[in-house]
Amino acid sequence: MKTSVDASYIQRAVELADLNAVRLTLYQLTTDPEIKALSMAAELDAAGRELLISKAVAWLIENAGPRTLTEPPEAELRDLLNLATQEEMSDLEFAARRDLPAFKAYPWAAEWTDAKPELPADFRVAIIGSGYCGIAMGIQLNLLGIPYVILDREPEPGGTWTVNRYPDVRVDTSSIAYDYSFEKDFRWSEHYGRGQEVREYLQYVARKYDVVGNTRFNREVQRASFNEKKSRWVIETTAPEGPETIEANVLVTAVGTFLNPKVSNFRGQEDFKGRILHPARWPNDYDPTDERIAVIGNGSTGVQMLGALARKARKVSVLQRTPQWISPRPNYGSPIEPEIHWLVDNFPGYWNWSRYMASAMFFTTHDLLIPDEEWESQGGSVNRLQDQLRETLLAYMEDQTGGRRDLLDRLIPDYPPFVRRAVVDNGWYKALTRDNVELVTDTVARLTETGIETSDGRIHDVDTIVTATGFEVAQYLSPMIFKGVDGLDLHEFWSKDGPRAYLSMMVPNFPNMFMLYGPNSQPVSGGTMLPAWFTIWASYAGQCIVRLLEKEKQRIEVQSEAHERYNEALDEESKKLVLLRKDAAPEKNYYVSSEHNRLLVSAPWYGPEFHRLCTEVEWDDMMFS
Ligand code: NAP
Repeated sequence: MKTSVDASYIQRAVELADLNAVRLTLYQLTTDPEIKALSMAAELDAAGRELLISKAVAWLIENAGPRTLTEPPEAELRDLLNLATQEEMSDLEFAARRDLPAFKAYPWAAEWTDAKPELPADFRVAIIGSGYCGIAMGIQLNLLGIPYVILDREPEPGGTWTVNRYPDVRVDTSSIAYDYSFEKDFRWSEHYGRGQEVREYLQYVARKYDVVGNTRFNREVQRASFNEKKSRWVIETTAPEGPETIEANVLVTAVGTFLNPKVSNFRGQEDFKGRILHPARWPNDYDPTDERIAVIGNGSTGVQMLGALARKARKVSVLQRTPQWISPRPNYGSPIEPEIHWLVDNFPGYWNWSRYMASAMFFTTHDLLIPDEEWESQGGSVNRLQDQLRETLLAYMEDQTGGRRDLLDRLIPDYPPFVRRAVVDNGWYKALTRDNVELVTDTVARLTETGIETSDGRIHDVDTIVTATGFEVAQYLSPMIFKGVDGLDLHEFWSKDGPRAYLSMMVPNFPNMFMLYGPNSQPVSGGTMLPAWFTIWASYAGQCIVRLLEKEKQRIEVQSEAHERYNEALDEESKKLVLLRKDAAPEKNYYVSSEHNRLLVSAPWYGPEFHRLCTEVEWDDMMFS
C-alpha cells in the first residue's frame, strides 16, 4: 500500500466516481482487455460494475499517486475516444475531440511556424473584455510573446461572472468541463461551480498566466476606428481619470453575448414605489427576508434564483410568459467529495477522462434538432430522440410538482425541448409547490404604485420586482461604435439583416479585427464546451496574427465574397434545423432573429465541422496588405 488513505476510502472514491471515466483511465493505464470489453456505465450489469470497481481499487491500492499522463500516440488515443462512447468516430470527429481530454499543455494554441520573428516596433493587440474569452486571448498572446492590453469596464477580471451576482448564480455545465483545458490544477469545490467560485477561478487564471498585468480595468470602450494610414485601431475609452485613447495594430472584441441587460419598460413603471432589480445589476445589500417579490422571467436566470429567494421571502410571485423545458442535472448543487479530489490527484488520467465524459454527454445534441419527416408523418414531434427527451422531461416535471395538475397544465411548453437555451433546474419546480410561491401566467399589463397588474385585472402587491428578462443579444457590441475602412460603421453594416460575420469572427472592411463569441458563434451542436470554444477562437485570431507578422504585412481582413459565401452556407445549414420552424417558437428564442428569420446567436454546423472551420484557417478567404 503506497498511499496515505486506506482501501475503504479508495473503494468509496471509485464508487462515487464517473465510472465511464474510471473505465477509460484504467484501460489507458493497463490496456486490460477485460476492461476494454465492458460496456458504458449506464449499461453495465452488477457483475460488470463490480469487476470495474474492484480492478480500479486494486490498481489504486498498488499504484495511486500524483502523475501526469502525456497524450497517448494517435492510434491509442483514437481507440480510447471510441471506447468512451462505444462508437467508431469519423476523422472529422476525432480531430474535434482529440483535445477534449486536454493531455497537451495548451490544446489548440497557435504557434509560430519557426522561431518568433522580430515584431514591428510598438506592435500590440487590444482586447476588449477580460471575461472568459479575453483571458483566453491574453494567454494565447502570452504564449506567442505578442504584447497586448486588455480593456475592461469592470474593476476586476471575470466578465459576466463578475457582473452577475444574483442569489444562487452558478454554472449549469459541469465545472470540470467549464474550465480552460490548459489549467489543470484548479480544484472546484462543487460539481457545478457557484458564481463566486467561477469569479475566483477567472481571477486565479488571469493572475497565474500573467494576464492581469496587461489589463486596464475601469475602462469603458466607446469607439474604435481603423486608421488606414497607420493600419492601426484607435480606441477611445472613458477611464476614471477621463477620456483615454489607445492605439493597437489588432483589435479583439471579447465582450460576450450578454453585455446589455434587457431593462424592462413596463407601462406605469415610473409609478411603482418599490424596488426593481435586474439580475445583472444585483445590489450587494439586497436582503429578500420577509419581502414580497415578483420574479418576471423563467429563463436560466429566473429559474436559478427562485429557490434561494423563496426560502427567505414572505411571498414570491413567479411571472411566466412562456413555459420552459427545464432539465435536472445529477449532482447539481452538491460539493465535490474529498474522495473525488483524491482520485483526481492520485489516479493519473482520471481528470482528463472525466472532462471528456462531461463533454461526450452532449455529442448527440445536434441530432435532437434535425427533423425526421417519416417520424413526423407518423405523428411524432421532430424526431424519435426529441420525443424520448420530451417524455423524460414531462416525467421529471410531474415528479417535481407532485403531479399537481393546476401547475402542470400551465408548465408544459407547446414547442419541442432543446430548441431554446436549455434551462437547468435549481429546484424551480419544487419551489412552485411552496405555500409562499405563486405561479402567475397572466401577462404583465402595467405596474402600479404597489405592484403588478396582470392582464386578468388582478393586482399583485410586491415590495420588489426582479426583472430576469434577459439580455439584448441582438444589439451585439452596442453601444460601442466601430468604424472600419472608409469610415464604414459596423452597426450600419449590420442594420440590413442583423449582426453576422465570417466564422462569427471577422467582418469585411474591418481589418485586423476579430470578435470572440461573435454573431452565430454558439454551436447548437454540443460536445465541446464553451470555454474550449473560447480557446479555439482565440487561437484562430492567434493564427491570423502569426500569419500577418510572418508575412510582414500590416493588414489582414476577410474578403467580402468569402463572408457572403459563408453566411449563405450558414443560412442554408440553419434550414436543416427545427429552430426556424414556426412550431419551434422562433419569436421567443434569442438564438434566432425572428425579425430576419435567421439564426442570430447560434452556429448551425455539426460541432466537429465548426471545429474544422475554426481551426483550419482558409487562407484563400483572407486578404493581406
Ligand atoms: P432569457 O433566457 O432571455 O430569459 C428571459 C425571460 O424573461 C424569459 O422567460 C422571457 O419570457 C422573460 N421576459 C422577457 N421580457 C419579458 C416581459 N416583457 N414580460 C414578461 N416576461 C419577459 O434570459 P436569462 O434567463 O437571463 O438567461 C440568458 C442566458 O444567460 C441564458 O440563456 C444562458 O445562456 C445564460 N445564463 C447561464 C446561466 C448558467 O447557469 N450558466 C445562468 C443564467 C443565465 P419569454 O420566454 O416569453 O420570452
